Amino acid sequence: MVIMRFRLLPGIILILLIVVLIVSYFFTKSNEAFLPEKKPPIVRQHNPISTTSAAMNMPDKIKLPIITYHYVENVQDPGDTTRIKLAISPFLFENQLKLLKEASYSSYFVKDIPQILQGKEKLQDKSIVLTFDDGYKDIYTDAFPLLKKYQIKGTLFIVANFIGRQGFMTQNEIQEMLQSGLIEVGAHSLSHPNLVSLPLVKARQQIFDSKKILEDMFNIQVKTFAYPGGSFNDDVINLVKEASYEAAVTTKPGVYSTRDKLLTLPRLRSGYLFLRTIQLFFDKFIQ
Ligand SMILES: [Zn+2]
Repeated sequence: MVIMRFRLLPGIILILLIVVLIVSYFFTKSNEAFLPEKKPPIVRQHNPISTTSAAMNMPDKIKLPIITYHYVENVQDPGDTTRIKLAISPFLFENQLKLLKEASYSSYFVKDIPQILQGKEKLQDKSIVLTFDDGYKDIYTDAFPLLKKYQIKGTLFIVANFIGRQGFMTQNEIQEMLQSGLIEVGAHSLSHPNLVSLPLVKARQQIFDSKKILEDMFNIQVKTFAYPGGSFNDDVINLVKEASYEAAVTTKPGVYSTRDKLLTLPRLRSGYLFLRTIQLFFDKFIQ
């Protein structure tokens, strides 16, 4: 038996080593948006005009990861798989913010992206945009105190008719967040339907009226939009354009923003399945 164990030992060590390597590979991959960049983030497409100084200030394309969050909370109900998939724990969220601060990242609002691409605002070397969809209560109770602590900006995409409903932020809470200067409010429709499957007249209402309600409620200009469920087509994009939104975000993965695709900006999810496993480990044993 002793000899058997000795023979098994190298095999077990090898398996453990492989597991550790796989774990670290995926962990690094899912966090790559938060890691310091080695290359400068402004990437210009090869374009003969870009040798002029005006074009130098107007990049066609910028590398600026936009991260999507929904819930920032410890989900209480283990059976609520939808919520679990969309949630990140406050512990892991704070670690992400710490990492961003330590790596000297600058945070931007989504509404800054058109300004940067038009050369009106400067993009720092290491930059990121954090977005929070739907307007859930825990963004006020759990995420906002951390954004204040680390002085990191975020864009909220609010479903106009859900303000004040059970589980969603109230008008006063959103107002307080706006006053901090760390928050942008963008629209996310009136009631979160799939805009592609709606008759155009209904889709128009969702896109136009949500902007108007938010602007009147908070006395602000709403310049950005997030497609509910990430669903859009050319008709929907045209309505968003017609409503004078300057930028709109999707759920398509990617890190580059381009001037000709301001109404279909890609985003990255804040967590992947594997990251969840690591998170559960940290939450259970380290905290
Ligand atoms: Zn949503």
